Amino acid sequence: MYRVGVDLGGTNIKIGIVDSRYRLIDQGLCRTNVKLGAESVIQEIVRQVYGILSKNEISGSEVAGVGIGCPGLVRIETGTVLYSNNFDWQDLPLKARLQEMMPWPVEIRNDAQCAVLGEMKAGSAVGYKNVVLVTLGTGVGSGIVVDGKILEGESGGGIAGHNVIKKNGRECTCGRRGCLEAYASATALISETKRQLKQHPESLIAELCAGDPDNIDGKTPFLAAGQGDPLGKKIIEEYIEALGNGLANLINLFRPGKVLISGGICNEEDALLIPLNRKVRENCFAPDWLSIPLVEIARLKNTAGIIGAASLIEAKETA
Ligand SMILES: [Zn+2]
Repeated sequence: MYRVGVDLGGTNIKIGIVDSRYRLIDQGLCRTNVKLGAESVIQEIVRQVYGILSKNEISGSEVAGVGIGCPGLVRIETGTVLYSNNFDWQDLPLKARLQEMMPWPVEIRNDAQCAVLGEMKAGSAVGYKNVVLVTLGTGVGSGIVVDGKILEGESGGGIAGHNVIKKNGRECTCGRRGCLEAYASATALISETKRQLKQHPESLIAELCAGDPDNIDGKTPFLAAGQGDPLGKKIIEEYIEALGNGLANLINLFRPGKVLISGGICNEEDALLIPLNRKVRENCFAPDWLSIPLVEIARLKNTAGIIGAASLIEAKETA
């Protein structure tokens, strides 16, 4: 039997088919037209599902179900998206709507939770039962697995991005101040780079963005730091300190065997990982007594969310 996984993002809808061993048979991508509203996104998902199945000549009877990873707060039992910032959705009965339009079972979970499931099924965390994955993108998402199960609490638990790491710190989109997300997301890194550039126009960053701050992306401060630019180095140091604090808090709480990070910033590899792991170790409780897992880059990158979403569907393992 095959399973379909959909990774719903504010920019793209990614879709894939996996077989019973979580091998990705095929994948596709289309733009998300958020502005056209929820109904249009739902119809696009359905179109994509039928499209990829017919392209691969897979009949309906060979499909065990469709799993969806969605940003925001998801109530699993009802399949309702309680709130999604990226889509401006509230109380959207996504599972029910999709099930009206497709004959297969549908399951829905938060996108970062799907990503950690994907890494556990086919990526960096195969064989591990305690895993923390933090996604560094528009926001900071998290999937926390304890004793082999996603930590969900009664509902909506395991949200790492909105733990405060700095008292009276930066304003966060959630209304609090000093949240990890306000420091460690790619969005935060970019806006902080722009802000600090205004005070230090002599920085190499001005040259790297050709004088236009809108050209700054997550790579720019790393590039500047790599060339010895003092402002670039300062920005990256502050970024890594915040992320390291946030990850150390999670390690202290959950003591995972694997700690994974994902998102475009991870393309920096050692320029990020080496100082980050130093910072994490400095901040973890009892490093001399308890082993501290090294923070690693999640291996599956873009396909973790698809594979994890597909894994929400329990398939009869016949293939
Ligand atoms: Zn927050």
